[in-house]
Amino acid sequence: MLKTSFSKLYRNTNFKQLKNPSLNLRKFSTTLERQNFKKLDEADVAHFKSIIPADDVLTSDLEFYNTDWLRKYKGNSSLVLRPKTTEQISKILNYCNIKKLAVVPQGGNTGLVGGSVPVFDEIILSTTKMNKIHSFDTISSTIHCEAGCVLETLNNYVEEKGYTMPLDLGAKGSCQIGGNLATNAGGIHFVKHGSLRKNCKGLKAVLADGTIIDSMNPLPKNNTGYDLKQLFIGSEGTLGIITECLLNIPAKPKFNDLLLVSCEKFEDILNIYKNIKLHLEEVIYAIEFFDNESLLIQEKHGRISPLEQKYPFYLLIETASNNPENQKILEDFISIIEPLDGVIAQDESQKKKMWEIRETIQEGASREGIVLSYDISLPLQHFYEVVEESRKKVGDLAKVIGYGHIGDYNLHLNICYDKFECDENFHKIEKIMEPFIYDTLVKYRGSVSAEHGIGLHKVKYLDRTQNQNSIELMKLIKRTMDPNNILNPYKVIKF
Ligand SMILES: Cc1cc2nc3c(=O)[nH]c(=O)nc-3n(C[C@H](O)[C@H](O)[C@H](O)COP(=O)(O)OP(=O)(O)OC[C@H]3O[C@@H](n4cnc5c(N)ncnc54)[C@H](O)[C@@H]3O)c2cc1C
Repeated sequence: MLKTSFSKLYRNTNFKQLKNPSLNLRKFSTTLERQNFKKLDEADVAHFKSIIPADDVLTSDLEFYNTDWLRKYKGNSSLVLRPKTTEQISKILNYCNIKKLAVVPQGGNTGLVGGSVPVFDEIILSTTKMNKIHSFDTISSTIHCEAGCVLETLNNYVEEKGYTMPLDLGAKGSCQIGGNLATNAGGIHFVKHGSLRKNCKGLKAVLADGTIIDSMNPLPKNNTGYDLKQLFIGSEGTLGIITECLLNIPAKPKFNDLLLVSCEKFEDILNIYKNIKLHLEEVIYAIEFFDNESLLIQEKHGRISPLEQKYPFYLLIETASNNPENQKILEDFISIIEPLDGVIAQDESQKKKMWEIRETIQEGASREGIVLSYDISLPLQHFYEVVEESRKKVGDLAKVIGYGHIGDYNLHLNICYDKFECDENFHKIEKIMEPFIYDTLVKYRGSVSAEHGIGLHKVKYLDRTQNQNSIELMKLIKRTMDPNNILNPYKVIKF
């Protein structure tokens, strides 16, 4: 039975709009050695100015480009290039390859594994200026756009026409579609629309030597050899620079409802999940999880739960369909699962507030101090066990919170240290967590990266999820496509 009846009204909460956290910059110390790339000189800079306008050859105020979103990694590049066309990127890379100048492709710089910033002095190639939407074909539901289009801008564009982007994530206001493809980003609607791999119909990319690979064929059937576009998706800028894409754009459902429920035990969460599969399969749009420790952090930053009481676990369940009875379906579901407590959002503003609690947990945690952030996949039976084991291991040294895309078995495990300094205790925590967390994933047959990628952070743990033969084949592909290793060196695979 419900302890509290479902409230139709959201409590009048005072949400503060959070901006990017302003953290003190941590010093990233690397044990890596700079590979034998050429050092940039004035002649190189002059050459780039002959390819793109001088305004887009930046040599000062590069702090933003050199620093990752978590402020964990900081590079030392003295050059950012902002080309506008595929042909310009081709000329830039052709030159860099001949001269052996290393390059880091960068989109919105919201990546969470250190992939988007240089390790040393690599040139940063930003796609920010490649932001044209070329066309939207409503017959095939396909958008053709450039890599630098911001996800939210694309979503606003297609929403006006009754459609929606096949992915949605907390960083949507800054991340770019090229970066999303390069990381094969997941997000909250993966459970409905599937991966970007599945929704990408075509792609244009530039190889390390400047060769343009045009794989922009939107036909649903095209069995003509290898599907080359898939090589670039999820390769995190190590095999080529994505410049344009064709994406499948689903219609936006007319009705959309959001339910927040609470549970006393994690087993109850699993039971609700089982019932979602049984009763909501056709309408389910998102299934997101967070624990009470995550909520407590959020409440400090003004993101208040609509529920009167606190409970150990919460699920956000979103349904969407063209059925005017969409909300009734959700209400019927409540009587099947009989949660402890819950609330259905009654208007767009309530939905937004409820989503903000879940979507800005990473941001809220990062405001408190340094966050060790693990994006992992594992069978649901072990999903919360990992959080509890980590909590026991870390003890009083840090707060451990668990949240994530439970519908995709994707846990975000954050170890939140209450200081911004990498002091002795912080290093102690790091030593406790790694490799413990990745070894635990081997035991449960999980993945060391569910959706954020390998970047720099997880290079040494790739072998916990990929077998040796697969890693050797990855290296062979990398050597073939980028023999001088100029594209995002030090990332994804170790050489
Ligand atoms: C608050 C917050 C919430 C997030 N939520 C999610 C989430 O729910 N799901 C999820 O998957 N991720 C999430 N992320 C991580 C991040 O937003 C994604 O990885 C996103 O896809 C990165 O896009 P970007 O444009 O910022 O890429 P960047 O961070 O600039 O780059 C990411 C990687 O892609 C490479 N790259 C970028 N552009 C190109 C290109 N055009 N061609 C080739 N390589 C390129 C870079 O070299 C780097 O290795 C979140 C991040 C934040 C800060």
